Amino acid sequence: FSTAALTEEEVIIPPVQVEHTQLLINGQFVDAASGRTFPTFDPRSGDLITHVAEGDEEDINRAVFAAREAFDDGPWPRMTAYERSKIIYRFADLLEKHNDEIAALETWDSGKPYEHTANVEIPKMTRLFRYFAGWADKIHGLTVPADGPYHVQTLHEPIGVAGQIIPWNFPLMMYAWKVGPALACGNTVVLKTAEHTPLSALYVSKLFHEAGLPPGVLNIISGFGPTAGAALASHMDVDKIAFTGSTGTGKIILELASKSNLKAVTLELGGKSPFIVCEDADIDKAVELAHSAVFFNQGQCCCAGSRTFVHERVYDEFIEKSKARAMRRIVGDPFKKGVEQGPQIDKAQFEKILSCIRSGIESGATLETGGERFGTKGYFIQPTVFSDVQDDMAIATEEIFGPVQSILKFKDLDDVIQRANKSRYGLAAGVFTNNIETANTLMRSLRVGTVWINCYFVFDAAIPFGGYKMSGKGREKGAYCLNNYLQVKAVVSPLKNPAW
Ligand code: NAD
Repeated sequence: FSTAALTEEEVIIPPVQVEHTQLLINGQFVDAASGRTFPTFDPRSGDLITHVAEGDEEDINRAVFAAREAFDDGPWPRMTAYERSKIIYRFADLLEKHNDEIAALETWDSGKPYEHTANVEIPKMTRLFRYFAGWADKIHGLTVPADGPYHVQTLHEPIGVAGQIIPWNFPLMMYAWKVGPALACGNTVVLKTAEHTPLSALYVSKLFHEAGLPPGVLNIISGFGPTAGAALASHMDVDKIAFTGSTGTGKIILELASKSNLKAVTLELGGKSPFIVCEDADIDKAVELAHSAVFFNQGQCCCAGSRTFVHERVYDEFIEKSKARAMRRIVGDPFKKGVEQGPQIDKAQFEKILSCIRSGIESGATLETGGERFGTKGYFIQPTVFSDVQDDMAIATEEIFGPVQSILKFKDLDDVIQRANKSRYGLAAGVFTNNIETANTLMRSLRVGTVWINCYFVFDAAIPFGGYKMSGKGREKGAYCLNNYLQVKAVVSPLKNPAW
């Protein structure tokens, strides 16, 4: 494996320190009501970074109270949409100004390669907030033609207090996908970060207040799922809950919402997305794209192309080249230049992935390369490629969430469509072909929320994202996601004053 013999000088970490470890409630950094804290670790080594206030039910109550007051009586939903958009634009300017510190904090807490956080993720986050700032003053209802002498209009109003629960694989991107549309529509927010990655959201939320966000509009609670997360999902004064994470937890969120106040729910859950390489594809390009579709972000992507289906005529060549590409993948300290793959998020995920790899070997798939930990400290895993994978093996059905490529052989389009769709998930799919008829057939037949044709992981603020089947409910990003954060009010009045 390429460790890329990098010298210490090539470590590109800019100076970064942890400034905020408390909860952010009503515009103030405060300790947890219980006084408790929990540790957050550097996944490169497993060493402690710092301790963070541990929010639980009482802190969720405090935060929801602040968000409720800010919604019911505060300036945010009442100011002009243009004023709101200016605050969000100013926040985006501050993100740009502090891009490198934010990226460094994100890399430190999550293990993502710094070159990517600094050059792609934080700039994309900034872009996303500008996109939603642009929407703020373009949200309006309709005039509706009705039978009878009535004037009918709809008002699009904010839904109220939005609860948001995010995962650790894209801490700030998920923050942006959730907070951006909620605030643009005039809602107030209580957001619970993932317990593995609490730091960056606290840092950027401070900047949001510097940009002029009124207190109580955005509250950030660090803490654990079964305590803080569950309290948020069951809160009677939360009007909507948005969740990204595992399908199992998504079911719990839906249940807690229905058992409490029937709050609106959107879910962005797991996947086992097919990446289909057709016989006419340019193999070198397909190998590269299929590789990044599964290994990007240490394999920790809900929409990773984690079932690589390859046409039987190009299968052998594809395996050889995919194996060689995985062996060239540069694994190492995510703060070093050129590193493509950092550590997994924590010990539990690291062990889960190694156990998935063992299950692949035991079930009879051919281990082409990798299969073990990388190095001796931290949570690094060798880029791993399996061939001869069968549809019913766990490595072809379960979300591994790690750097493991499972390659399956297919015969023809009917075969691959039926097998690609035979999954409880339906998040995304990749199609690699030069034949437009094949592309048209596949894009219409695959039961997934996104089809990438001859590309993968193209994320843009304007492109809706979400899942079919057990991959989720609702769409995030783009114009489609605004409805998640709006109520529609119908207003009806007679055209002429009736003579009573
Ligand atoms: P998770 O679903 O348990 O955690 C995601 C978020 O939900 C975190 O903020 C967590 O604190 C919160 N949460 C957990 N239990 C909760 C509960 N009972 N009530 C309310 N909130 C709760 O995911 P995980 O344990 O961190 O990872 C497990 C697996 O989930 C991974 O191996 C991976 O397969 C999958 N995952 C998927 C995504 C995704 O983007 N789809 C993200 C992270 C993890």
